[in-house]
Amino acid sequence: MQPRSAEERRDELVELFREVSGCARCPLHSGRTKVVFGAGNADADLMFVGEAPGQQEDLQGLPFVGRAGKLLDQLLQEVGLERSDVFITNVLKSRPPGNRDPQPEEIDACKPYLHRQVELIEPKVICTLGNFATKLLTRSQRGITGVHGRPQVHELGGRAVRVFPLYHPAAALRSTKTLEELREDFQRLPALLEEPPPVPIGAVMPVAAVAAAPEPEPPQTNLFD
Ligand code: URA
Repeated sequence: MQPRSAEERRDELVELFREVSGCARCPLHSGRTKVVFGAGNADADLMFVGEAPGQQEDLQGLPFVGRAGKLLDQLLQEVGLERSDVFITNVLKSRPPGNRDPQPEEIDACKPYLHRQVELIEPKVICTLGNFATKLLTRSQRGITGVHGRPQVHELGGRAVRVFPLYHPAAALRSTKTLEELREDFQRLPALLEEPPPVPIGAVMPVAAVAAAPEPEPPQTNLFD
């Protein structure tokens, strides 16, 4: 595929936003106030993927505007970043009733939008917040407790991208220990963003690089088409 300029990719993201705004691919469309497409820098190096909009997000059409969002803002600030530097979105773009867990059919219906967002934004690092985003983007059933704070390389949106699983900020609001671990993991973000692009999966590496290559990932369940 021809490389596209940041402006072209942004224009396509705006088109995608229009498409998602009218989405009726799953029953959640009938209960939502607003679609929460995601917001931030359309050419961000760093993307965050949460679970699904809550009540405030549904009313405002913006991701992470409630208490969990305030914590996310604070953690970003502690590592010298602001919302305008990053792009924040969710696995689901419509609010599940009563903030219940996303259902497999809803995730299946919505995941092409997330994939397309990754393809158009071209982030270097994707932080998955909590279990749902982590399992979806790592194509694995391994839960967040076992994988948080350990970057993995995955092919997403046609590129090799570093996925950095983190605890969900809402979980950190409920437990001081989780908050401490989330804060520690966040401190690794500036260095992770400075790393050279990951070697594309399947590419032939020079011998020296092979010697230094990380352990292969455990077998994964394929969640994508
Ligand atoms: N929790 C999420 O996962 N996403 C939001 O946008 C808000 C809270």
